[in-house]
Amino acid sequence: MLQIEHISKQYKTGDFVQQALNDVSVNLRDNEFVAILGPSGSGKTTLLNIIGGLDRYDQGDLIINGTSTKKYKDRDWDSYRNHTVGFVFQSYNLIPHQSILSNVELALTISGVHRQERRERARQALEQVGLGQHVNKRPNQLSGGQMQRVAIARALVNNPRILLADEPTGALDSETSIQIMNLLKEVAQDRLVVMVTHNPELAHQYATRIVELHDGSVISDSDPLPDDQVPIRRARHRTFGKASMGLLTSLSLSFNNLRTKKARTALTSFAGSIGIIGIALILSVSTGVNRYIDRIQRETMTSYPITIQEQSFDLNKIVDSAQETQKEAKAHKDLKAIQPDDSSVKGASSLTSSITQNNLTDFKKYLDNPKSEIHQYVGSVGIQYSYATKFSVFGHDPDGKLVSADKVTMGGQDDASSTASQMATANTDSDMGDIQSMQMSYLTGKTEKNKAPEIFGEIMPGADAKTTISKVVTDNYQVVNGTWPKAKDQVVLVLDKNNQMPVTSLYKLGILPSSQYTDMMNKLNSGQEVKVDTKPIEYTKAMDRKLSLVPAADQYAKGTDGHYHYIGDNTDQMTKAADQGLQLHIVGIVRPNQGAKATPLKVGVGYTRQLTDYLIDQAKTSPIVTDQEADQGHSVLNGMAFAPADDAAKANDAKAYIASLGVSQKASMAQEIMKGSAAMAGQEAQGRAGAAARAQGSAGIPTGASAEQQTAQAFDQYIATAPQDALVAIYNQYVSTGTYADNLSDFGLISRDAPSRISIYTDSFENKNSVGDSIKHYNDKAAEKNRIVYTDYVGLMMNSVTTIINVITYVLIAFVGVSLVVSSIMIGIITYISVLERTKEIGILRAMGASKRNVSNVFNAETGLIGLLAGLLGVGITLLLIIPANSIMHHFMGTTEVNAALPASGGIALVILSVVLTLIGGLIPSRKAAKQDPATALRTE
Ligand code: ADP
Ligand code: MG
Repeated sequence: MLQIEHISKQYKTGDFVQQALNDVSVNLRDNEFVAILGPSGSGKTTLLNIIGGLDRYDQGDLIINGTSTKKYKDRDWDSYRNHTVGFVFQSYNLIPHQSILSNVELALTISGVHRQERRERARQALEQVGLGQHVNKRPNQLSGGQMQRVAIARALVNNPRILLADEPTGALDSETSIQIMNLLKEVAQDRLVVMVTHNPELAHQYATRIVELHDGSVISDSDPLPDDQVPIRRARHRTFGKASMGLLTSLSLSFNNLRTKKARTALTSFAGSIGIIGIALILSVSTGVNRYIDRIQRETMTSYPITIQEQSFDLNKIVDSAQETQKEAKAHKDLKAIQPDDSSVKGASSLTSSITQNNLTDFKKYLDNPKSEIHQYVGSVGIQYSYATKFSVFGHDPDGKLVSADKVTMGGQDDASSTASQMATANTDSDMGDIQSMQMSYLTGKTEKNKAPEIFGEIMPGADAKTTISKVVTDNYQVVNGTWPKAKDQVVLVLDKNNQMPVTSLYKLGILPSSQYTDMMNKLNSGQEVKVDTKPIEYTKAMDRKLSLVPAADQYAKGTDGHYHYIGDNTDQMTKAADQGLQLHIVGIVRPNQGAKATPLKVGVGYTRQLTDYLIDQAKTSPIVTDQEADQGHSVLNGMAFAPADDAAKANDAKAYIASLGVSQKASMAQEIMKGSAAMAGQEAQGRAGAAARAQGSAGIPTGASAEQQTAQAFDQYIATAPQDALVAIYNQYVSTGTYADNLSDFGLISRDAPSRISIYTDSFENKNSVGDSIKHYNDKAAEKNRIVYTDYVGLMMNSVTTIINVITYVLIAFVGVSLVVSSIMIGIITYISVLERTKEIGILRAMGASKRNVSNVFNAETGLIGLLAGLLGVGITLLLIIPANSIMHHFMGTTEVNAALPASGGIALVILSVVLTLIGGLIPSRKAAKQDPATALRTE
């Protein structure tokens, strides 16, 4: 029972108001064939649309089986159309890109009926209208009558109780019209059929009731329902089950649509893929470059560790303060007065204040703890500890003369006696750590007594105790003669990559005669031209040299006074010591490989960790160390207290010290003081000591041994009566015994807990950074004085490279991002056009009961599919483009090591990105599609 009660409907177009329906009241039986007649524009379609829930009435009520529809929501109308009503239109309104079967299935599809059942029922409906043979045809392959029968089958497939037909025969010839009318009559046997027509003949012939409309009002009704049959109780609200359409259905609808427009879909997808291709290519190239950098980094990182010196300075701090000074200087530009410039003082101050003493003992404890955070980042080479072992090495040159690895000739000049000789003997090949330590001793002015010869270096041991020589060394060096050393008394000569070794080193090792060196130095210092014999030296000849190592502790001899004396500068005693020293054998000659990534060995002599261990153990048991350890209060060198209690004690010590000196020592000390007092006239006390010496000196201009004796005597006299402050000054200047620790250090005692340098190797740049972070964390927890300071030179270098590459990548990605935005806007436009194009289809979907959300889902599914296609296409094309791109890159970079490659994760991410972007692009058009008024949509042609 369908009751139309006083329904009115107006259309407003601008100022013009069209009264399409004017107080229409008709009651329709559950089972009759009603024909609505009337001239064009009389409101027939409007009435039908309102009955079918496609259009809304302004006034009145539509009562469906006793239920008022006044409070119906969109969802109720959708459901009503889907379950209760079937529509047949004059222009068939089949969806052109779907098969006949799919068209008929549509209403079932929308209500979420399963595929199998859908198929079955659609087939049945098509058989019913006599089209069982044509199920797989498309609408445009059928005649008009056949299409209308498909439309009827579609309307009936859901078995609705109401069939609404709007001029179903309007576009058909009379013969076909009759067939359709027969079909409708048959359909009307068990349901309500309302048919709009302007053909009175057909209406009268087939319909059971005729309602005539004119200007929106009912002017006649051939079979109105008597008033007593109209139910009285009504206006009860009831909702229908909702029409539902799954995502898969939306997808298959859009997929079918896309399939019918292959060319356009392909073009759209291609356009959409361009942005993706751009990003994918950039991603691939930067991945390739980054992989290359990673590899380089790994190779570099295994060669260049983070190095922490016992003494370090904060390079960043120095740079900062320099920049600060510059800024300040600029600020004074306009000053109209003299501005004292303190930049050099500041510079020096920042230099010295930035020097820090690292507590490597505590840090080593942290490193030794296997639970420390840092361990997860340490690479295969591991953590290396270096120790400042103290020893001298002697040898005999081809002439049989004793040579020292420190300064070539015993008792000869130091290397550094003149600028020219310094330049001539400078070691040209040093590793990073050496440079740092050189700078350090320069900055602190601290000389390390008895330190190992400059040309001697430990060869880095392997990460485990069994390997004598680290892989970093064996990977980067080749043995040109002999073998690598295996024991403490075996060493190798290390050449540079051109097989060279500085001549000075060759003199120091006694490979070239030292007389040449003396000659060279003399000439250099007197400004003469120097010629050096650079004839190549046979490997075996060099390896024949015997070297002898004398530990620092053995360079002191106990005297009759019970004190130890330094004998390192005494040729006779050192010759003896060398004979008893550890004999070193040169077992091989090595040099860096061609293309070595790192050269951690010093040019000179390389020795093993075994030797270091031997020296550490040796020092511990040496007599001088044991003696010193036995009396920690007094220096074994002179028997005096390390820390005199007061000035009186110092003065006494000074007296005792001078008394213990021999005549010539006393005389030379007196002369020293004399010189010192002339130079430092400001220091009064010293001046007085000097004056005394001078007074004695001027008394009788003494010569030879007697002169020495006289000076010594005068000096003794002066000391006996000297005031305390003068004696304290002498003590500070000449006697001071240093500290207990200094002494032990000078004797070469080393604790394994106190390395002089820690090198932490990593396998990657990230890990190196993480090690840096770990040290930061260590510092955060450590006490102020235990904080570790180091300069990460390689990091500084490499960081900027990666930063540059990252910046370039980001810039390129930004460019491509723009193209991505453009292409998604384009996809939006295309979707929009598609919406316009498919307005009719949207109307049909809505008429079948599809909800707004269903419609927008269909369009979203379509854009999603296009996005997916675009993404896959983009990734696919990129994979193809990478092949020529790589050969171009190889050509221009001249290396095949950089290979562009699209990482799988990146590819997947880009496909997702493409889908998301196109979905966003299609969002507005699909919203618009959903908002379309179904009645208006159906009216569009
Ligand atoms: P019929 O189907 O009897 O030819 P309609 O129901 O289509 O008549 O139209 C009734 C009147 O309402 C006509 O004058 C038509 O111009 C007007 N009309 C129908 N739909 C609209 C609309 N969407 N906007 C404005 N006027 C409309
Ligand atoms: Mg009409």
